[in-house]
Amino acid sequence: MKEGKHMTDCIFCKIVANEIPSFTIYEDENIKVFLDISQTTPGHTLVIPKKHVADIFEYDQALASAVFAKIPMIASAIKASNPDIQGMNIINNNGAIAYQSVFHSHFHLIPRYTTKDTFKISFKDNSKKYAPDQLESMMSSIKNMIGEK
Ligand code: 5GP
Ligand code: ZN
Repeated sequence: MKEGKHMTDCIFCKIVANEIPSFTIYEDENIKVFLDISQTTPGHTLVIPKKHVADIFEYDQALASAVFAKIPMIASAIKASNPDIQGMNIINNNGAIAYQSVFHSHFHLIPRYTTKDTFKISFKDNSKKYAPDQLESMMSSIKNMIGEK
């Protein structure tokens, strides 16, 4: 299922092709797994498809199966590598608005050690802003699109 679409100006395609070195943890025909250069927390790892897709909206089910199926195995290896790891955030940014800066899809595996480590995420509770009919409308709009892809 590997398709060799190599974007010449894509930093992650260059990492896949070993044109840029990386600390590679795992690879198979479909994915490459390597340390994120920023090391937000120690062991911060990226899982990427070898095929260039910009973001989640470009996956088909076969590619999703190949990539997502390996994430629990990799997450478990990271956790097992250090007894200080208490948990893990798995983050996938899509679009500049969502903090994506490299436009070759990737999943961040960010091990968490303490409440004082250098990774933060915040979910505001806006539940009081929405009446049941608004939630019903949102649900229907999304539900109507299921299966469109
Ligand atoms: P994004 O902001 O798109 O979700 O994440 C892009 C990630 O790619 C950042 O965490 C950044 O540190 C990482 N990154 C950017 N360039 C390189 C590189 O050349 N090598 C590695 N290993 N990671 C990179
Ligand atoms: Zn690429």
